Amino acid sequence: MTTATTTRDTQVFDLIAKEQHRQESGIELIASENFVSPAVMEAAGSVLTNKYAEGLPGKRYYGGCEVVDQVEQIAIDRAKELFGASWVNVQPHSGANANTAVFLACLHPGDTILGFDLSHGGHLTHGSSVNISGKYFRPTFYGVERETGVINYDVVEETAKRERPKLLICGASAYSRDWDYARLRAIADEIGALLLADVSHPAGLIAKGLLNDPLAHAHIVTTTTHKTLRGTRGGIIMMRNDFENPFGIKTVKGETRLMSSLLDSGVFPGTQGGPLEHIIAAKAVAFGEALSDDFYDYAVQVKANAQAMANAFLSRGYEIISGGTDNHLMLIDLRSKGLTGKLAENTLIKADITINKNMVPFDDKSPMVTSGIRVGTAAMTTRGLKESDMEQIVVYIDKVLMNHDDAATLATVKEEINEWMKAFPLYKS
Ligand SMILES: *Cc1c(COP(=O)(O)O)cnc(C)c1O
Repeated sequence: MTTATTTRDTQVFDLIAKEQHRQESGIELIASENFVSPAVMEAAGSVLTNKYAEGLPGKRYYGGCEVVDQVEQIAIDRAKELFGASWVNVQPHSGANANTAVFLACLHPGDTILGFDLSHGGHLTHGSSVNISGKYFRPTFYGVERETGVINYDVVEETAKRERPKLLICGASAYSRDWDYARLRAIADEIGALLLADVSHPAGLIAKGLLNDPLAHAHIVTTTTHKTLRGTRGGIIMMRNDFENPFGIKTVKGETRLMSSLLDSGVFPGTQGGPLEHIIAAKAVAFGEALSDDFYDYAVQVKANAQAMANAFLSRGYEIISGGTDNHLMLIDLRSKGLTGKLAENTLIKADITINKNMVPFDDKSPMVTSGIRVGTAAMTTRGLKESDMEQIVVYIDKVLMNHDDAATLATVKEEINEWMKAFPLYKS
């Protein structure tokens, strides 16, 4: 091999070692993060990164794809089994790319979309003015009720009838309640819209039957693979039933195309070039893990831990939007404690507790300040923590927030956490 591989790039690898230390010594509560297995990492760091494979298994634009064809087919087959899908595309590089490919497949520029309000917990790829979804299409939104913090589906229906979207989008980044996909499909059918369910956050819980099944009702389902699903960073698109696109998007020969064909084209060549076959291999490994009974136990524990954490916050007088959680995450309104999300995030990190500040519904603060924080249990459950540990984490969070200007308290908590985390080794180095 060349000198490039014989002389170690210490500048970069020292930083990777530092990051591993950061991940291992602190408490990770960012709801969208998780820790992948060594096998997933091994596949992601494999020689498959060297291969070009534009196209799909068996239909490539490059030679030498016999092996990656098999890898990608395993990823597709495992995803189908995991979610009960009849069609899957495993190539999207991310959740955002998966959604963009769906928009390209289903819509014409300027068409109306109806999504969950970003400031109520939605995702920026569902119509935010700074995202392609909000720039190339006409975005409209529904939100939660001020009093309950929960989505009122009668209001979604009213909004849908008024705005007449072609695509109704459900799914969120910071919504702790399950979704009524059957009701949403009925609303979509009433106005002749397609229903897209973006289950990026709760996908791992859905895969194990612990939340409502979006594939039973939504025309199209997208998800990231790196949140509760605990795989490599990436995205996938799925359908349980294929169908003809109702909006007149035709082939050059004037034929109506099946949605599966439009979605495949939406990914490549629509929005991506060559697929990341090393990442697709890592997705395959992660889907294999998610099919196991161990992963069922994991998903059950994620939910149990979220319940324990929510109860611990409530018993200390914290306000949780919607009053609790059905999934792995919760959104906490800190206004009753006289704190902002920004102060909480900046203070907790000093004690090696990582969370993110988050807008709460009807927030009066800017996105850079916010009134809330979002916390989730997927990552710490992977580390092996249980319900009583969640209570201990909340004790620490409360101690830090109530003593946010006391450097000595923050330093003590940080030391205790670093010591505590040694009991939950993550990666053997
Ligand atoms: C995380 C998330 C995405 C985007 O995923 P990326 O991989 O960061 O692009 C899309 N939709 C929802 C609902 C998400 O939570």
